[in-house]
Amino acid sequence: MKVLIKRPAWNLKIICTGKGNGGGGCKSLLLVEENDIYATSHTDYAGDTEYYYTVRCPVCDKETDIPEWALPSSIRIKKVNERQEEVYQKVYGRKW
Ligand SMILES: [Zn+2]
Repeated sequence: MKVLIKRPAWNLKIICTGKGNGGGGCKSLLLVEENDIYATSHTDYAGDTEYYYTVRCPVCDKETDIPEWALPSSIRIKKVNERQEEVYQKVYGRKW
């Protein structure tokens, strides 16, 4: 089959602010694509885990969190799975 017009890949423009990571971003305008995002997580004393969707600025190397509502659910699910796999590997020392 020939692809005549390929659907553009998802992307999002954000400003590097350091939000959620201590601030102090360089204010560069960044075009974020799916592969630039990784999930980080924090588990509180009650065992509840919260996930954050984060990118690292190529200009100043600071991390900025992207608001959950700005991401398609398919990307959120994928990134949370990757994060859970990473945590599992840290705890059990092997891939699941
Ligand atoms: Zn920056």
